[in-house]
Amino acid sequence: MYNPEILYMVVPCYNEEEVLHETAKQLKAKYESLIERKLISPQSRVVFVNDGSKDKTWQIIQELHNEMPEFFSGINLAHNSGHQNAVLAGLMTVKDICDIAITMDADLQDDINTIDAMVEEYYKGNQVVYGVRSARDTDTFFKRFTAEGFYKFMKVMGADVVYNHADFRLMSKRVLQELANFKEVNLFLRGMVPLIGFQSTSVYYERHERFAGESKYPLKKMLAFAMNGITSFSVKPLKLITRIGFLMVFLSLIAFIWAFAAKLLGFAELGWSSTICSIWFIGGLQILCLGIIGEYIGKIYAEVKQRPRFIVADFLNDLGTEFINDSAEKSE
Ligand code: UDP
Ligand code: MG
Repeated sequence: MYNPEILYMVVPCYNEEEVLHETAKQLKAKYESLIERKLISPQSRVVFVNDGSKDKTWQIIQELHNEMPEFFSGINLAHNSGHQNAVLAGLMTVKDICDIAITMDADLQDDINTIDAMVEEYYKGNQVVYGVRSARDTDTFFKRFTAEGFYKFMKVMGADVVYNHADFRLMSKRVLQELANFKEVNLFLRGMVPLIGFQSTSVYYERHERFAGESKYPLKKMLAFAMNGITSFSVKPLKLITRIGFLMVFLSLIAFIWAFAAKLLGFAELGWSSTICSIWFIGGLQILCLGIIGEYIGKIYAEVKQRPRFIVADFLNDLGTEFINDSAEKSE
């Protein structure tokens, strides 16, 4: 028989005061049963990462920790860094104190009962276990259509992502150590983890509706984010060029039809059709090419800046000392 391993759950939370108590309750029950079944060590913890919430999320996390430090701990990020960065902050904090880590959203959309199967797969020798949603019944047709199109498009573009897998996954300590060596700023964890490799498998679950509260990615937020991006970061205008290029190429097709029609109807001057078509098409193509180059320059821009991907303001428990020791070792 094996020694039960230490499992740390990393749960990113952004304005999740409505769901946090329920999530904590369900996770605690799950931990108790896993500990009793000797699947995980009693030293296992749930780490909530507060991603700069504006509501009582951090207070609730602190309360949970004070009431039940044997289950709950937390990290408070200094400002909202986004879901992917919050997950990474949690993972990098626990990587030296856990044997296995599972990342899961706070809203209970991922099925907590899948954790058992994930841990069992780990004991079978898998270093990464992907939580994959088996049904999309709870989604609207539009969401399902766009989401599935997204996975197919990623595949065509050569990015190795697991179909219908979001960020509900188990990773071993080994994988976390390797993940720490990925220094990129543009985080896309579900693309990065398959790149690491190691033996992996998938477990299937049905994704639920959000337990309470609303999606933290509403259209309004996305639009505001885009606007802010254009004005405060110079990468966004570069991306905009690509879109204008696409538009111009599309318009050139209309110009083609128009010029052709004008020629057929006989009211075009000699040479006018070919000139007008070339102007639109070449113009569009040039802008599109500039845009594509701009996309790469934008990425280079973000990478060379080497901004910290997250800044931790507070630690609960002994998490901070581990983290500080880790960075102290590296600077030696
Ligand atoms: N989240 C976060 N930072 C953000 C936005 C979201 O940490 O800036 C967290 C959020 O609290 C949740 C998870 O990321 O635990 C997924 O967000 P959400 O459920 O709103 O996204 P959806 O499921 O609608 O795609
Ligand atoms: Mg959600």
